[in-house]
Amino acid sequence: MPDFDVVVIGGGPGGSSVATFVAQAGHSVALYEKATFPRFIVGESLVPACNLPLEKLGVLEQMDEQRFPRKHGVQFFSPTGPTKPFYFSEVSDPRMHSTWQVLRSDFDAMLLENAKRAGVETHTQTEIFDLCGTNGTVTGVKIRRSDGGEETVTARVVVDATGQNGLVTRQHGGRKIIDGLQNASVFAHYHNVALDTGIDAGSTLIYRIDNESWLWFIPLPDVVSIGLVTPAKTISRFGKSPASILETAIDESEPLRSRLEKADRTTEVRAVRDYSYRSERDGGEGWLLIGDAVGFIDPIYSTGLFLTLYSAELGAAAITEQLQGGASTPNFSGYSKDYQKAFEQFLTLVQAFYREDFHFGTLAKNPAHRQGLIDLLTGVVGTPEANEVTQAIRAFFDKQMML
Ligand SMILES: Cc1cc2nc3c(=O)[nH]c(=O)nc-3n(C[C@H](O)[C@H](O)[C@H](O)COP(=O)(O)OP(=O)(O)OC[C@H]3O[C@@H](n4cnc5c(N)ncnc54)[C@H](O)[C@@H]3O)c2cc1C
Repeated sequence: MPDFDVVVIGGGPGGSSVATFVAQAGHSVALYEKATFPRFIVGESLVPACNLPLEKLGVLEQMDEQRFPRKHGVQFFSPTGPTKPFYFSEVSDPRMHSTWQVLRSDFDAMLLENAKRAGVETHTQTEIFDLCGTNGTVTGVKIRRSDGGEETVTARVVVDATGQNGLVTRQHGGRKIIDGLQNASVFAHYHNVALDTGIDAGSTLIYRIDNESWLWFIPLPDVVSIGLVTPAKTISRFGKSPASILETAIDESEPLRSRLEKADRTTEVRAVRDYSYRSERDGGEGWLLIGDAVGFIDPIYSTGLFLTLYSAELGAAAITEQLQGGASTPNFSGYSKDYQKAFEQFLTLVQAFYREDFHFGTLAKNPAHRQGLIDLLTGVVGTPEANEVTQAIRAFFDKQMML
């Protein structure tokens, strides 16, 4: 008999959520996380479609207790000035009229604690350094504790939720970089920033510097997260160190600069590579990938956590179905079909953002297309309007290719 029904590698939002969902269904789950929690991680803005999986996880009340600012909308600033804000109240489902901006250390720790409460055996400071199995079938993991001790743990299902580290794809290959989105990012938190008021106080603001580069502005408790996204190969045009890169970029955006006149930076400036990618396989015999381990899209629309929670829900449903059906070797190949559709829709929107010849303003003049854009910015995929606007953007890409 295996030690557990399910072993989850990684205690980020993907790992802790899939573990909770599977434990809620009555299966035994162990989760291994190499870091000590709470730990710093970037990625602080939710889209409202996250509210539904968060409700299923049973953490909505805790979200309100955490002092996370409420996010009601998104506003884009072009180099020539602001564009009309998008408000989530324009979607039909009232459960998605707002969401939160989160301090990830607290958010991720809350989700991990929630997994523990659901009965998941959680181990932090414990790294998985290898998978066990033969001929592509995974039957367990090799763990290394912080004291250096090593052991093998067996399970009927192993979930790789190791984020951008991607344990499975690092060992076996199959991660494909998405052309044209080889970006990098530098970011920090600032205090004493001029915020908007009322319903706009918690909005994400996006300041475009040019067609390739933009800055995010995400209000958090007491501070604002500000970050630059720009092509990795030309990031040095802004400066040599992460701090000088971020300062120059802020200087290049007059409307953002003016909000920071009295501001102090409260953290070091960190840098990450944020290439968009996807994995060729989402699962196989005894294993599946969840969250950033399956794929990652540029953060312009803050879709990372939604896609992560969505894959956790789909993965947990596939796991419980196979375990309850008594499959001797559960196979998860293709489990993420619906996630892949959502990924494609967001990717189309992201690719449009970086094109010089594409103008969202023109698209949004059509009310159905504007609604489709709001649906996608909310994280609501697959509505007729979201499908229609995605098709309109793809048709535009195809037409430009023919010219
Ligand atoms: C610059 C940038 C900005 C972003 N902004 C946003 C945003 O505004 N909104 C949004 O929704 N998303 C954003 N994202 C994306 C978001 O951060 C990710 O989608 C999200 O963190 C994915 O969650 P995850 O659980 O899959 O992975 P992670 O959160 O990365 O968690 C993976 C965990 O696995 C652990 N781990 C790794 N390897 C091992 C191992 N071998 N053994 C044990 N543990 C291991 C790690 O320590 C980590 O805790 C952004 C990303 C970047 C790069």
